[in-house]
Amino acid sequence: MESSLNAARRARELDEVRTGVVDVLVVGLGVTGAGAALDAASRGLSVAAVDAHDLAFGTSRWSSKLVHGGLRYLASGQVGVAWESAVERGVLLRRTAPHLVAAHPYLLPLTSDVGPGEAATVMTGYRLGDALRAAAGTPRSLLPGPSRLTAARALALAPSLRPHGLRGALLSWDGRVVDDARLVVAIARTAAAHGARVLTRCRALALAGDGARVRDELTGAEFDIRARAVVNATGVWAGGLVPSVALRPSRGTHLVLRPGALGALRAGLHVPIPGERARFALVLPQADGRIYVGLTDEPLDGAVPDVPEAPESDVAFLLEVLGGVLDRPLGRDQVAGAFAGLRPLVDGPGGAGGAGRVGGATADLSRRHAVLRSPDGVVTVVGGKLTTYRRMAEDAVGAACPHAPASRTARLPLAGAGPVRPGLPRRLVLRYGAEAGAVLDLMRREPELAEPVAAGITLADLVWAVRHEGALDAGDLLDRRTRIGLVAEDWAAALPAAEAALYRT
Ligand SMILES: Cc1cc2nc3c(=O)[nH]c(=O)nc-3n(C[C@H](O)[C@H](O)[C@H](O)COP(=O)(O)OP(=O)(O)OC[C@H]3O[C@@H](n4cnc5c(N)ncnc54)[C@H](O)[C@@H]3O)c2cc1C
Repeated sequence: MESSLNAARRARELDEVRTGVVDVLVVGLGVTGAGAALDAASRGLSVAAVDAHDLAFGTSRWSSKLVHGGLRYLASGQVGVAWESAVERGVLLRRTAPHLVAAHPYLLPLTSDVGPGEAATVMTGYRLGDALRAAAGTPRSLLPGPSRLTAARALALAPSLRPHGLRGALLSWDGRVVDDARLVVAIARTAAAHGARVLTRCRALALAGDGARVRDELTGAEFDIRARAVVNATGVWAGGLVPSVALRPSRGTHLVLRPGALGALRAGLHVPIPGERARFALVLPQADGRIYVGLTDEPLDGAVPDVPEAPESDVAFLLEVLGGVLDRPLGRDQVAGAFAGLRPLVDGPGGAGGAGRVGGATADLSRRHAVLRSPDGVVTVVGGKLTTYRRMAEDAVGAACPHAPASRTARLPLAGAGPVRPGLPRRLVLRYGAEAGAVLDLMRREPELAEPVAAGITLADLVWAVRHEGALDAGDLLDRRTRIGLVAEDWAAALPAAEAALYRT
């Protein structure tokens, strides 16, 4: 079956799901829901999967994009969580998404804020993390081990660091996804290739164990989808559909710096947060040259917004922390954009494997996921992280459909994984993996599509997203299939191209 998602397929499959009964209805198409749709469809079950907005509309596009081995969980004694992360990182790097996930180096600059004792403790942690990598079967060739660098070497990799007082740096490696929203798109398309009906702009209004009342947000039409099992994968919004699910969302903010803002930066940075032991802000260079600086961890009180705002207090905090290691601190005017996401942390000792601490700081709540069954049979899967989405999906589908065949996703390559035609442009290979050749062919057939739009994106990327990646409007194109929209003026400049791409089907 075709993996391409587009408006014509959506219209056809929307008609199909109104009649009959599917084995599994998945609600929410972030990384967890897309993963559940793929897990169920690849077990041979019939699947409908809906999202109120778009693929990766929620938290899944606001992550730090780390596919991490769970080092910080080791530090807090959550060995099971760390192990699960290391195993899932290996699955993505080696088998399912080698085109989207790769190793990336990070420097921890040894400034006066990091004493020799703390540096030794961090290095011990890195070595333990490396042992976990080996135990999880991920070879060093895919994820190199840690080492200590001289100050000169650190400055060669990160020239904007303040040389004065720099004793060197600790170098560590971890996995990183090239774009979290694109990971979700790849998972959803792979699910579609296994027959899942992936329907965006379809909001679940009410859930029950045998289906949901759904509204097509494009027409306002309401209808029922009948299902033998229902998985609620709506992240921070899960409690809106299943009120017994108690969450404590926590806000994480990132800054977006323009390419070159930190010189020729060739590694990420772990920046010590002054006054806190072994807590770091992150500097994360992206494939498009932009640099993200994150990240905060603030409990969110009150209603959960559709798109969280990054408050100025978070921006000022991150600039101040970053300034602590830079030769020339950055001003507010050098911040091109900022974004915030909400972690769907499970509240209460029962939810998150018993490790959550009720009433404490959200930074201390467990990052383990929970699979919760409500009395009417709806299975909610929540918590966890991007890195462990596959395991979360397997657990959720296993709970919802206990008699289904075993999960196959640990060995199932995602759309775009596979051999790449030699000689293709690196930008296309990084973005499309094995599909890069098809995108290049599109540009050759329609040469005017090679026109650049913004942030390294061309009109061809936008047209491809409309034809194959389920983009239905300019927001889908600029905010999720590409990340142009992270900088407001880039969004405005690219809008005419996005509108042109939507009419060019
Ligand atoms: C700031 C930040 C940084 C992070 N960094 C990392 C990282 O580096 N590495 C990592 O592994 N993890 C990271 N995480 C965690 C990770 O991003 C999340 O755990 C994960 O993305 C949650 O995905 P999800 O699919 O469960 O939820 P979401 O992505 O929020 O998806 C839920 C979906 O449900 C839909 N929905 C809601 N209500 C309805 C309804 N009524 N009907 C239909 N659809 C509905 C929404 O539109 C949304 O698309 C980070 C989290 C944050 C906040």
